[in-house]
Amino acid sequence: MNFSGEIINWYQLHKRDLPWRNTTDPYIIWLSEIIMQQTRVEQGTPYFNRFAETFPTVSDFASATEDEILKLWQGLGYYSRGRNMHHTAQMVMEEHAGYFPNKYSELLKLKGVGEYTAAAISSFSNNEAQAVVDGNVFRLLSRYFGIDTPINTGAGKKLFTVLANELMDKNQAGTYNQAVMEFGSLQCKPVNPNCSVCPLISSCQAYQQSRIQELPVKLKAKKVRNRFFNYIVLKREDQFLIHKLQSNDIWQNLHQFPLIETEFATDASNIIQSENFTSQFGNKIILKKVHQPVKHLLSHQKLHAQFIEIEPNVDYKSIPKNYFFAGEQVLKELAQPKLIFEFLKKFF
Ligand code: SF4
Repeated sequence: MNFSGEIINWYQLHKRDLPWRNTTDPYIIWLSEIIMQQTRVEQGTPYFNRFAETFPTVSDFASATEDEILKLWQGLGYYSRGRNMHHTAQMVMEEHAGYFPNKYSELLKLKGVGEYTAAAISSFSNNEAQAVVDGNVFRLLSRYFGIDTPINTGAGKKLFTVLANELMDKNQAGTYNQAVMEFGSLQCKPVNPNCSVCPLISSCQAYQQSRIQELPVKLKAKKVRNRFFNYIVLKREDQFLIHKLQSNDIWQNLHQFPLIETEFATDASNIIQSENFTSQFGNKIILKKVHQPVKHLLSHQKLHAQFIEIEPNVDYKSIPKNYFFAGEQVLKELAQPKLIFEFLKKFF
């Protein structure tokens, strides 16, 4: 049996029953693909179910508010993807009369849909012969063929995409794509692949040459940037002072406490004497509590966050105009970065 035959055979026996596999609706497949780019299947499935239930059609999604979408998205990270989805849904309503495209070339024109996602949606919904090349496929092909071209380079992407398209069973493109990704995810795992029960073992180059640990090759990632966030927690009559993030920095359009960013870790007593702080809250502030600093990892940033609770004896006239107080009910409706809602959940 050839490569694709072995993979499809294995898939029929071992595939997981995932809710988005029982449909050919390109909108539902799009939902699942964008959500699963963020997270592992176990964590992403409840998000997918919530989105599919709340917005069963692209029209429902397009007519939601951005806050509703970001609230459902809360905790997934990469919030720009949630916002892009909203734009995409609106574009589908305007330019495709509400019919979500299922052709690769049309899908590529949608915001937030790249080659991988377009290949996945078009093959799963329409059996179009476009091979998917995600991390699972890179790993499997790199190991099976013993290829050490780095997977995160232009040359690597091209090489593996050509190879994946050559290997694809064109008559069952959707099934082949599902199978190759599932095989990479469950069988040829990043660490401790199940080689002893692998149907490809006799022809796998990495196994035969004992190079499994070396493959795939990846060039070193960008350096991580350290940032120091000092959140000012001001609670007045069961309401917290918050604001909506407007800049192009991380978490655009989410809600958080007033933030003072510093170059280094800085004592709370120095923060409340800084000009940045006194210009917003006045200079007669009493510290209530300084919480243990927490670390929060993003793709290329490491946030060191300190939450500084202050007594509500501030100079309310100097508080920036875009800040407002929100109680528990309102906070439930507004999307916040995970760092903020986990703090609120833990301490209030
Ligand atoms: S033999 Fe091992 S390394 Fe090779 S494809 Fe199978 S699981 Fe992956």
